[in-house]
Amino acid sequence: MGIFDFLKREKKERYIYSTGDLLVFYVQCDKCQELLRVIVRKHSELYRTYSKGPAEYEIQKEIVGAKCQNKINVHFDLKPNYAEVSHEITGGKLLTQTEYNNLITDNK
Ligand SMILES: [Zn+2]
Repeated sequence: MGIFDFLKREKKERYIYSTGDLLVFYVQCDKCQELLRVIVRKHSELYRTYSKGPAEYEIQKEIVGAKCQNKINVHFDLKPNYAEVSHEITGGKLLTQTEYNNLITDNK
């Protein structure tokens, strides 16, 4: 096993993407497998944690897709630069941008 295998394993997947005033993440509904692109406005949907930990901001979102009534609850803790500290999700699973794009293409 080389050094690159080690680096690969240590690398954390990225599930939240910052673009201008928005943050974007991707989820798949557990119930109907619907793919959802979720947008978070930095100015109105991001909350300061005021905690002593590494997290500066948090997001709490409830998402309901178009295809079923299943509620997907997502919570992110973010650093000051919007990098992810941790996340929790119920009712669905988080996808990376690449996974989402691959699945969307497959479904077309
Ligand atoms: Zn669904």
